[in-house]
Amino acid sequence: MPKAVIVGGSIMGLSCTHALLLAGWEAVVLEKSGEPPNKSPTGAGLGLDPTARRFIEPWISQPEFLDHLTLPLSIDQTLQNEATDPEKKVSWTLTRDEDFSFRAAHWADLHGLLHPALPPETIKWGHLFLSFTLYNDRSEVSVKAQVLHKGDTVEITGNLLVAADGCLPSIRQTFLPELKLRYSGYCAWRGVLDFSGQEDSETIIEIKKAYPDLGKCLYFDLSSGTHSVLYELLNKRLNWIWISLISCR
Ligand SMILES: Cc1cc2nc3c(=O)[nH]c(=O)nc-3n(C[C@H](O)[C@H](O)[C@H](O)COP(=O)(O)OP(=O)(O)OC[C@H]3O[C@@H](n4cnc5c(N)ncnc54)[C@H](O)[C@@H]3O)c2cc1C
Repeated sequence: MPKAVIVGGSIMGLSCTHALLLAGWEAVVLEKSGEPPNKSPTGAGLGLDPTARRFIEPWISQPEFLDHLTLPLSIDQTLQNEATDPEKKVSWTLTRDEDFSFRAAHWADLHGLLHPALPPETIKWGHLFLSFTLYNDRSEVSVKAQVLHKGDTVEITGNLLVAADGCLPSIRQTFLPELKLRYSGYCAWRGVLDFSGQEDSETIIEIKKAYPDLGKCLYFDLSSGTHSVLYELLNKRLNWIWISLISCR
């Protein structure tokens, strides 16, 4: 049976591992974090389209959990908001799609569905990828990783190496050393606001007044030089992304 070594045990690494197992591969995941993430109320939201859900459902033992852990995003609405301009505090709808069939997941909830559904011992927690060597005409790969709590190095062999180690991937740099990160013209911040127990606060009341379809709508809010994305997650959490265009001189 061919074997894959996947570096990175976040959403991409775990999704790839499930897909490979279903295709008849053996797989091992090297993840530098020492243990599975806890159910942190903060973090990130993810919008799952129907195709993503169709892929994920066969991977988890109880596919209905995907619905239980997500909120529907049945509307996609883009607003043009002039509220940041003190002269014109107005906003109007640019587009509104009522057939949007996404669902909103919290990163930790989705991860918590994906990792327990893998065979035991598939994920090697606390293993820091160090380097790899290709051999046998590139049909095999040997991966070196450091076991962080012990400090010793292990070597794992396979037939496929998957670089799911995030936005600064050391594996990609080996193949494309000349490829450098470039500033793309904007900066973005994102987070999740846990407002449980704060439902009647002025902030939440004002947010719900400005975005009345929260709970079923993905809002894009465009203003001059900036835009934001807002949607609600299960258990009284709001996912927000704020993007700001900053010129680089
Ligand atoms: C502000 C902001 C907004 C974003 N908005 C969106 C959006 O709207 N839609 C979207 O699709 N994406 C968005 N993204 C990007 C999104 O975060 C990434 O696409 C997603 O997290 C990538 O997941 P991943 O599994 O590939 O990598 P990551 O989640 O980065 O996971 C990488 C994993 O690899 C592990 N790792 C790293 N190095 C090693 C090593 N040497 N050894 C072992 N393990 C290692 C890490 O511990 C981590 O678990 C946004 C990002 C930001 C910052």
